[in-house]
Amino acid sequence: MTSTITIPAAIPRAAEGKIAQGEVAGEKRTSRADELRINEIFYSLQGESSRVGLPTVFVRLTGCPLRCGYCDTAYAFHEGKTRRLADVLAEVATYDTRYVCVTGGEPLAQHACLRLLSELCDAGYSVSLETSGAIDISAVDARVSRIMDIKTPGSMEVDKNLWENLGFLSIRDEIKFVITSEADYLWARDLLRSRKLNDICPVLFSPSFTEVTALQLAEWVLRDQLPVRMQVQLHKVIWGEKRGV
Ligand code: SF4
Repeated sequence: MTSTITIPAAIPRAAEGKIAQGEVAGEKRTSRADELRINEIFYSLQGESSRVGLPTVFVRLTGCPLRCGYCDTAYAFHEGKTRRLADVLAEVATYDTRYVCVTGGEPLAQHACLRLLSELCDAGYSVSLETSGAIDISAVDARVSRIMDIKTPGSMEVDKNLWENLGFLSIRDEIKFVITSEADYLWARDLLRSRKLNDICPVLFSPSFTEVTALQLAEWVLRDQLPVRMQVQLHKVIWGEKRGV
């Protein structure tokens, strides 16, 4: 079976109207360089990526310019408090772990996120960033491990992929696809093969929690002998759909 969905034959040039840092749901943010709008900070097990299972502090930033159909953090679109960078670092330091994950929303939608990432690295943390792939990642501190989505057609946001980002990824980063159907899976598989994505960095395939079962995705990956890491969201296996875990 072949996908009828078109994949980009070449990495396109920057799209007209691409999403810039600081743009959230069509609004331009004008936050101070040392302030961030924070949705929540919490301590839990990392549920995804090659860091799965590691006790980690999560810093969730408010705001996202995308609206994926499967989004499970819509509460982060608007809820949050403006906090000073020093205050965020002090709260992170109350937990006894070296792992910090900056997530959202779309963290890069806030300018001060870049400074937060660098200051966390300076403080000695092993830092990961979860990003939608829709905003330029080139200025992110090279010490950060970037977990970058490629949005599939089933996400309803495939047009937001900033393909130039593929050129900025390195072996310490990871590409993530959330798969919503077999058509989505085939689209991702064909893109993986044509772009040799697994030569750039590890590639993660994740079933959309309510749309594809882990068993279905596992069978497709094994059938096609794909060089990817299939993952389920460990925190949902343990705690279900719950905030702050
Ligand atoms: S990019 Fe992430 S936070 Fe934003 S809408 Fe999509 S799933 Fe939700």
